Amino acid sequence: MLTFRGIFRISTRNLTTKQLVYAANGNPPEAIKFETVELPDKPLTGHVHVKWIAAPINPADLNQIQGVYPVKPTLPAVGGNEGFGRVEQIGEGVTGFKVGDHVLPGRSGLGTWREHGHHKQDQLFVIDNTLPLEASAVLQVNPPTAYRMLKDFVDLKPGDVVLQNAGNSAVSRYVIQICKILGFRSVSVVRKRDDLEKLVEDLKSLGADEVYTEEELCSRKIKTKGIKLALNSVGGKSSLFLAAHLEDNGVMVTYGGMSKQPVQCPTGPLIFKDIKLVGYWMSRWYEQEENIQERHKMYAELGKWIKAGQLKTPCFEKRKITDHVSALEDGMNKFDRKQLFVF
Ligand code: NAP
Repeated sequence: MLTFRGIFRISTRNLTTKQLVYAANGNPPEAIKFETVELPDKPLTGHVHVKWIAAPINPADLNQIQGVYPVKPTLPAVGGNEGFGRVEQIGEGVTGFKVGDHVLPGRSGLGTWREHGHHKQDQLFVIDNTLPLEASAVLQVNPPTAYRMLKDFVDLKPGDVVLQNAGNSAVSRYVIQICKILGFRSVSVVRKRDDLEKLVEDLKSLGADEVYTEEELCSRKIKTKGIKLALNSVGGKSSLFLAAHLEDNGVMVTYGGMSKQPVQCPTGPLIFKDIKLVGYWMSRWYEQEENIQERHKMYAELGKWIKAGQLKTPCFEKRKITDHVSALEDGMNKFDRKQLFVF
C-alpha cells in the first residue's frame, strides 16, 4: 500500500470470502444470493478461523430458507446447516482446537455455505481428519439420524425387523447399511418409478433384505413378521400403513414429512397392540450437553464403519458456490443424488 509520504508499508490484508446468504425467507433459488465479503485477517479472542471445504444441500436447509423450519437464524444469514471445514487459525484463549483439525458445526444454524468463517469455539466440533471428503461433509446429520433411531427407541436384537418408507433417501440408505452391520433385517418402501428394478437391486446391494412399493405397503402385500421399529419420513397414508405393520409394542419414529401430509395412525393397533408413535429430531439431541461424550463415541463408530467400507456415502453431485441457483433447484427436485457444494 502507498502512504501519503510515498513510502511502501506492509498492510494487514483482510481475507475475502465467498458465501451464500438470504436476507428474507422465500423460495431458495431466488432467496439465496451470492456475495463476497471481507473477514479480519485474524480471528477474535475465543474464535476459530475455518476454511469450509464441503457442505450439502439438505431438505432442512431448504425448509429453513423457506421459513418453515424451527431453526430460524437472525437474517441476513449464511445458508446451510452442515458441512465440514479445516481449522486455519485460532484466536487467543481457544482450547481444544489446533490448526489442521477438521470440524463440523456444533449445532444447526451456523451457516456452512461459505468459503471461510470466524466462529466461536463452542460452535464447532472436532472430527477425525482422515475421513473422506464426502463422508465428512455429511457426518453431522444423516448417518447419526439413522444411527440414533436404530439405537434409542427399541432394544433391537439381531434378526429383528425395521420397516421404513422413503427407502431411497440418504437417511434410509444409512438405515439399510447400519441394519446390516448390526444384524437387523430391513424392509424398505419406495415410490414406484420406471427403473424400479434398478433401484431395488441398488438397495439390496447395500444390504436391504426386502424392498416394496408404496402401493404394495398400502395393499398389505408385506407379510414380514416381527417388525419392531418403523421409521417414517413421509407421513400421510404411508405412515398409516407403516404403523399398521408393527408387531405388539412396536414403535414408529417420525423424523420427516416429505409428503407434507399429517402423520396418520391406525386406531386398532394403537389400542390393541399398544404401538407407540414418537418424533425424533437430531438437532435437539445435539443441543443436549449430556450427549457430548456419546457424540464422540457415535462419530468414532460411524468413522470406523466408513473406513472399513461397510458404510458407504450416497452419491453426490459436486457443485461450485457460483452455481447456487441450479444447485438449489436440483436440491429441491432431484432426490437421486444430493447436491454438495465444494468450496
Ligand atoms: P433425500 O436424500 O433428499 O431424499 C428425499 C426422499 O424423500 C427421497 O427418497 C424421495 O423419494 C422422498 N420424497 C420426496 N417427496 C416425496 C413425497 N411427496 N412423498 C413421498 N416421498 C417423497 O432426503 P434426506 O436428506 O435423507 O432426508 C429425508 C427426510 O428426513 C427429510 O424430510 C429430512 O428433513 C428428514 N431428516 C430429518 C432429520 C431429523 O433429525 N428429524 C435428520 C435428517 C433428515 P424418491 O426417491 O421416490 O424421489
